[in-house]
Amino acid sequence: MIDEKLEAIYSDIVRMNPGELEFHQATRDVLDSLGPVVARHPEFARHKIIQRICEPERQVIFRVPWQDDAGDVCINRGYRVEFNSALGPYKGGLRFHPSVTLGIVKFLGFEQIFKNALTGLPIGGAKGGSNFNPKGRSDDEIMRFCQSFMTELYRHVGEYTDVPAGDTGVGTREIGYLFGQYKRITNRYESGALTGKGTTWGGALVRTEATGYGTAFFLSEMLAARNDTLDGKACVVSGSGNVAIYAIEKLTQLGARVVACSDSDGVAHDPAGIDVELLKQVKEVERGRVSDYARRRPSATFEPRAVVWQISCDVAVPCATQNELTGRDAAMLVENGCVAVAEGANMPCSPEAVQIFQHAGIAFGPGKAANAGGVATSALEMQQNASRDSWTFDHTEQRLAEIMASIHETCWLVAEAYGAEGNYVVGANIAGFQRVAEAMIALGLV
Ligand code: NDP
Repeated sequence: MIDEKLEAIYSDIVRMNPGELEFHQATRDVLDSLGPVVARHPEFARHKIIQRICEPERQVIFRVPWQDDAGDVCINRGYRVEFNSALGPYKGGLRFHPSVTLGIVKFLGFEQIFKNALTGLPIGGAKGGSNFNPKGRSDDEIMRFCQSFMTELYRHVGEYTDVPAGDTGVGTREIGYLFGQYKRITNRYESGALTGKGTTWGGALVRTEATGYGTAFFLSEMLAARNDTLDGKACVVSGSGNVAIYAIEKLTQLGARVVACSDSDGVAHDPAGIDVELLKQVKEVERGRVSDYARRRPSATFEPRAVVWQISCDVAVPCATQNELTGRDAAMLVENGCVAVAEGANMPCSPEAVQIFQHAGIAFGPGKAANAGGVATSALEMQQNASRDSWTFDHTEQRLAEIMASIHETCWLVAEAYGAEGNYVVGANIAGFQRVAEAMIALGLV
C-alpha cells in the first residue's frame, strides 16, 4: 500500500507520463516501500528526492534508418533514457525488441538506478533500445542496424558518461557491431564505453554468464536464510535466452534439476533435467528454438503456446520478460508447493503475483536484487578496462558470488531494520533508494 504522503507524487507521475503503464508499475513498486523511509528521513522530502529520482535526467529519442538485404529502406525508433548519475556514469543495457517503447525503456531505466545502487559499485542508472526486431534478420542486416543506431547514440556514450550493455535481443554480436561503429566514429579504442564485449577484444570473462549465475547465487542465499539449499530442488525457468541459459547452468551445478524452459512459441518440458550443453548449441550456436531442443532430446517434450508455470516445481525462475507471471500463475505455483521465486528478468511478476507469493510466505527475490549480477560484472569489466587488466574466470566468478551474497545481506538487514523481515522487495527498494538519495543530497540541486 502506498503511503498517503506519497500518493500525490504518484498521481503526478501518472499524469506526467501518460500511457506508460510499465513505468507507472515500476515507480509504484518503489513508492510502496518508501513510506517509512520518508517518515524517518524528512530531509528526503525537503530535497524533493522522490520527485527528482522519478524524472529522468535526460531522454533521447532518435530515428534509425537502415537498409535490409533486399535494398529496402527501413525505419526504427531508438531510445536512451539517462535516468540518474548520482553514483557514477549512466549504466544499463540496450534492448532490441518490437515491444520497446519509451515507457518500457523508462521502467527498465528506473529499475536500473536501484539495482546498480545495490551492487555497491559506482554506476548510475540508464536503459535504451529500439523497436527493431532482430529475429530472422541476417548478420549483415543486424550490422547495418547497429551501425545506424550507434551513429546517433555515440554522442551520448563514453566511459565517464554513459556505458551501455546488452539486454533482450542484444548480445556479444550486437555489442561488437555497436562498438566497432563507436570506435570508427570517435577514432578511439575506448573499451570502457560499452560492456558485454567479446573476451578477445576487451570483454570480461563471466559477463555472459553473470546475470543467470547471479540469480542462482541469490536463490541459494535466500534458501540458506531458511536453512535450505538448492540441492535436489526441481526448478522451472522461463525463457531460453542469455539469462535463462546461465541460470539453468548454475542451478544445475548447485544440485538442482531444471525441468522446463520456454520461448514465446511454447514450453520444453524435460523431467530428466535440461541438458544445458544441448540448449546452448541450439540457442547460441544455431539460433534455434526450444522446440528444436525438445526434438533432439529424448527425455523432452514440447508443448506449443503452453504456460511454463503450470509445471510443478520447488523453485520458479522467470527469465523472459516483464509481467510474464500473472496472479493466476502465482496461485498455481503456490498450490503446487513452490518455495522460492527469483526474478532473472526485469519485473516478470505482476504486482498481484508478488502479493500472492509474499502472502504465502514464499521466498521472493525481486529482479533489482536477484538479477543485479549482470550489471555488477559489467562494472567489473569497466574496472578491468580502466586498468588494462583481465581477471581469470574463477576470480571473477568469486567476485560475482561475493557481490550477490552482499546484496542479499543488505536487503535482509534493511528489511529487518524497517520491520519487514524476509521481505526482499522492501529491503531492495529501501537500500537502493537510500544510497542514491544520500548521494543526490551531497551533490546539491543538479
Ligand atoms: P534474450 O533476448 O537473450 O532472451 C529472452 C528470452 O525470453 C527468449 O528466450 C525469448 O523467447 C523469451 N521471451 C521473451 N518474451 C517472451 C514471452 N512473452 N513468453 C515466453 N518467452 C519469452 O534476453 P535476456 O536473456 O538477455 O533477457 C531476459 C530478461 O532478463 C529481460 O527482462 C532483461 O531485461 C533481463 N535482464 C537481462 C540482463 C542481461 O545481462 N542480459 C541483465 C538483467 C536483466 P523468443 O526468442 O521467443 O522471443
